[in-house]
Amino acid sequence: MAGDREGIRRRFEERLLLSRKSSGNSFITLASTPGGTASGQLSGKLAGIKDNIAVKGMRMTCGSRILENYMAPYDATVVERLTHSGAVVLGKNNMDEFACGSSGENSAFGATGNPLLPGTVSGGSSSGSAASVGEGLVDFSIGSDTGGSIRCPAAYCGVIGLKPTYGRVSRYGLADLSMSLEGPAPVAAWGGEELLASVMDCISGFDRRDQSTASARKTECVRQLDSFDPSGLNIAVPENALLHCTPQVVAAFEHALSFMGDAGATVERVQLKSLDVALSAYYLIMYSEFASAMQRYDGLKFGTRGEGYTVEESILNARSLLGPEVRRRIMIGTYVTSAETRGAWYERALAARDHVSSELNDMLKSHDLLAMPTMPSAPYRLGERINDPLLMYASDILTVPANLAGVPAGSMPMGPGLGFQLVAPRNGDESILAAFRYFNRRGWHW
Ligand code: GLN
Repeated sequence: MAGDREGIRRRFEERLLLSRKSSGNSFITLASTPGGTASGQLSGKLAGIKDNIAVKGMRMTCGSRILENYMAPYDATVVERLTHSGAVVLGKNNMDEFACGSSGENSAFGATGNPLLPGTVSGGSSSGSAASVGEGLVDFSIGSDTGGSIRCPAAYCGVIGLKPTYGRVSRYGLADLSMSLEGPAPVAAWGGEELLASVMDCISGFDRRDQSTASARKTECVRQLDSFDPSGLNIAVPENALLHCTPQVVAAFEHALSFMGDAGATVERVQLKSLDVALSAYYLIMYSEFASAMQRYDGLKFGTRGEGYTVEESILNARSLLGPEVRRRIMIGTYVTSAETRGAWYERALAARDHVSSELNDMLKSHDLLAMPTMPSAPYRLGERINDPLLMYASDILTVPANLAGVPAGSMPMGPGLGFQLVAPRNGDESILAAFRYFNRRGWHW
């Protein structure tokens, strides 16, 4: 046992050194000691934790200057469960400020580099989570996914990521972007399906501190990992989703799909008509929930309050520390939820969400899985889209439907920087990881 602990400590020190030397900028804060070396299912596994998830005694910035000096006073439930199972936190991962973004460039602590395709964006908002796994600095990381934030960087960095069923993993201790859409979401290297499965089994299930988990069943991902049998499966492929993709993405997707087809799965081409309204519904709901959640960062409750300032000055000082994308979202969210406009925007967005959710859920009643590319294009050059928020938002078109419907969705590599996305019915998290394992075991090369 003492020998194990020594081994864990040595590996921790070695990765700490590598992380300090790395130019990838995938961590905002590194741990100083390998705390919590309990034995368990995840004994000695090194973990990154996105910097919007609380780790007691460590700085938690959410990628923002406004929380630059904030120390988390408690562990998020996911962190508590991981460390009790023996995982060791190496550091807090870089991220787009308050999880706003899909490129990893909106962090107040600098952009995260893409270890797979240097010079291109790493994806976001869990940029550091996917990049630190891709670079081999940690064994896995916990990010979060509101509209694609784990699947997008997983695709761009060539790793696997899972957005669990909403309410199956506790959100306690997560500073979320949008409470009805987001939850913690793990990421591991290609080939790390078993580890991802163990992580899911560890972090999932009821938590009395989060009502959204009231009816949560713990996952059985490890037990079901080798149970995937494509023969007899019926997979839906929304043809209209492919119209948003580059030819390179479509070609890689068809290739991955034929891998399942050759193994006996039935592939049915369908239309997901509500895809037309999914992006607008997502952005309007997210803006609204975000604007409301951000009220607390007023320099009084949270954020830095300088000495000798009035309340008004403190609020203005604190707000001036927020980046442009965060401010844009707060302004739009405040506008679309105001008494005069909420009928025209927010309420219509809620109706559109119901529409997407029922169409997707119906499709998942008549099919076992739904397959789509994760992102419509390959990662682009750093800086290329930073001044065009609408173009940036457009890249979330294929990931937001699963969040609007609360169903699980995962991404695995299908080409360099390209992700193959599987969406399952509610509580079907296990089958997504089992499918990824099947690809891996049957020699899928990307
Ligand atoms: N890219 C999306 C956004 O900017 C999703 C972010 C997320 O999932 N946190 O809102």
